[in-house]
Amino acid sequence: MKKPMIGVVPLVDEERESFWMLPGYFEGIEEAGGIPVMLPLTDDPEAIARLAETCDGVLLTGGHDVSAEVYGETPREVCGACCPGRDRMERLLLDEALRQDLPVLGICRGVQFLNAALGGTLYQDLPVEHYSTVVHHQQPPYDQPSHEVSLLRGSPLAERLGVKTLPVNSCHHQGIKNLADSLSAMAYAPDGLVEAVWMPDKRFVWAVQWHPEFSHKVSEASREIFRAFVESCQ
Ligand code: MN
Repeated sequence: MKKPMIGVVPLVDEERESFWMLPGYFEGIEEAGGIPVMLPLTDDPEAIARLAETCDGVLLTGGHDVSAEVYGETPREVCGACCPGRDRMERLLLDEALRQDLPVLGICRGVQFLNAALGGTLYQDLPVEHYSTVVHHQQPPYDQPSHEVSLLRGSPLAERLGVKTLPVNSCHHQGIKNLADSLSAMAYAPDGLVEAVWMPDKRFVWAVQWHPEFSHKVSEASREIFRAFVESCQ
């Protein structure tokens, strides 16, 4: 069988005027049998359509905060740095991927962007808007768990992993407030925060708030998430 090619949204560093990539995203895809390809940062609809046709799946990576405008709010002071270029690109890319029913995996910002783009809302800053004792913004090493999540029984993630709870790493200060109508929750943190979602009427649209790209070397569950994604791209 041909290895699926996965388009990976680039990370953007404005200070260094560079696009970059965390090896973990690529390694996770490669270990699972896929070929990762970093996409250009573009909001040209024709380019996005061609890229989506060429790729067998799309990975929405972590990174900047999602602009509050994406979910119809005014940015508060607690909102972190945003990247309008990524917001524009990912909006087009997600629309195209959903139109073509391409598999999509979202990680961290990816789960937030997916929810916001589909009509949900976000906490602009968890400590201020959803205070809890759960450590969502852990210190290194990032391959170690920070809190547990409960997997929703019967959800594809619970079925795939065969467990009820999962220790996960956590490095986010934003999170899902209202879940988009077209998404269903797959995992909750102990403070009630939605930590994983899927789109029931699509072939494979999953997104997690934690970081399998940091933990794939030490966590079988993290590798299994990449495998589920890459398999669905075949
Ligand atoms: Mn968390």
